[in-house]
Amino acid sequence: MTHAVQNNKALKEALYKELELQLDLSIQGISVDADEISKLNSDYGHTLSIVSDAYPLAYNFVDGKIKGPGFDTGFRKQNDSIYGLEAEEGKPVIYKYGKNKTRIGQIEFRNETRHPLLDLTTRDGVPFHTIATVRQDGQVHVNYSQECVLKDKGEDCYFCNYSVRNATLKTPKQVGEVFSTLYEAGVGKHLNLTSGFLYERKELDYYLDVAEEIQSRTGLKEFRATAVVGAPLDFSVIDKYKEAGYFSIRMNVEIWDQNIWNTICPGKRKHCGGWDNWVKALEYAVDVFGKGRVASNIVGGIEPKNSILEGIEYKASKGIIGSASTWRAVAGSVLEGHRSPETSWHFDLQQKIAGIYKRYGFSFSDLHNVSPTAGLAVTIFQIDQGDFDDNGLRPWQYP
Ligand code: SF4
Repeated sequence: MTHAVQNNKALKEALYKELELQLDLSIQGISVDADEISKLNSDYGHTLSIVSDAYPLAYNFVDGKIKGPGFDTGFRKQNDSIYGLEAEEGKPVIYKYGKNKTRIGQIEFRNETRHPLLDLTTRDGVPFHTIATVRQDGQVHVNYSQECVLKDKGEDCYFCNYSVRNATLKTPKQVGEVFSTLYEAGVGKHLNLTSGFLYERKELDYYLDVAEEIQSRTGLKEFRATAVVGAPLDFSVIDKYKEAGYFSIRMNVEIWDQNIWNTICPGKRKHCGGWDNWVKALEYAVDVFGKGRVASNIVGGIEPKNSILEGIEYKASKGIIGSASTWRAVAGSVLEGHRSPETSWHFDLQQKIAGIYKRYGFSFSDLHNVSPTAGLAVTIFQIDQGDFDDNGLRPWQYP
C-alpha cells in the first residue's frame, strides 16, 4: 500500500514536470532549421511545413506519459527560441541550448494522418477536411468563418489576430452534413462550433440552421455540441440555443478585471452590453443549460493572476466552468511584440484553477463537455485525481 502511494506520488511529480516542460516549449516556441528538416524522414518534414501560430501541432514525447490532446501545449515554431529541433536518424528530437546543450527528447506528432472520412465531399462538392477537423478523442472542431466583424470596425480584441477579410462562410448545411456523417460513423462525438462575430450579430440564425441540419440527419433532439458565442443583449436567445439541441454553451469573457476588459475588448464592450451584461448572461445560461454546461475563458497573462483567479472562482461558484488560456502575443494583434508572463507564473495559475474545479465539484467529463476543454488545468486536475492507466494519464474519449 505504502509502495503504491509512493509510486503514485512519483508518477504525479513526473507528470507535472512533463506538463510544465510542454508548457514552456509552447511559450518559448521551438526553432526549426531548414537544414534539419531536410534530414528528417519525409513525413515529419511534411507535417512541420503546416505548423503556424494559428495551428500549433499536437505532439508528445515518445518516452513521455502525456499522450492526450495538447490544448495549449502544441508545437510552435519560434526562430530565436532557446529550444530547437534536430534530426537524429531521421526523427525529430528537441534540444535546449545554452551554456550546455541538453537533449530533451524525441517527439512524435499526433493526428498526422487525416481520418479517411474527411476525404469525402459534401453534397455541394466541398471536401470535408476544409469544413472540420477531428481529434483522436472524438472532438470535431469547426470554425465556420475566419472573419470577425470587429476587425473591420477596428474594435477587435487586443490579443486576437483571428480575422481574415472576406473569409468564406461555411454553410450550415455543410457543417451539419460533415458532423452528422462523422457522428453516425462513431468517429465524431462532440462538435465545437465557433467563429468571430458575424455581421449584424447573425450568429443565432447560423447556429439554429446547423442544429436543424444535424437533427434532420441524425434524428437527435439534443446533440453533443458546444455553441461558442458572444453574450447576447436579449437573454432569451440563450434559451433558443438550448431548445435547438446544443449540449453546452461557451461565452468567453476574455478578461475579468472590468477596467482592463474595457480597454482590451472594445468590440465586446460596445456590442455586448458591457462586462456586467456578459457576466449576467453567463449566470442566466446556467439556469438554462445547468451546472457544468456553461463555460467562459479568460486569456491568461494580460491581467494580474489574482484577478483571473477571482473570476474563475466567482464563475465556479455559479456553476460556470472558467478557464485561462496561455496568452502569447500573436503577430497581427494589437499586442504584437508584448511578452507573456513566465512559464512558472502560468503553471501556478493552472494548478490553482485545477484546485478550484475540485473545490466546486466539477467532474472530468464536465471539463470536456464545454469544448474545446477547459485547458491545461484539466490535465493538472486529472493528475491530481490520479486518473491513470498503465501508460500514464488515461486518454480522454468523448462518450
Ligand atoms: S476574440 Fe474578439 S476579435 Fe477575436 S474573433 Fe473573438 S470577438 Fe473577434
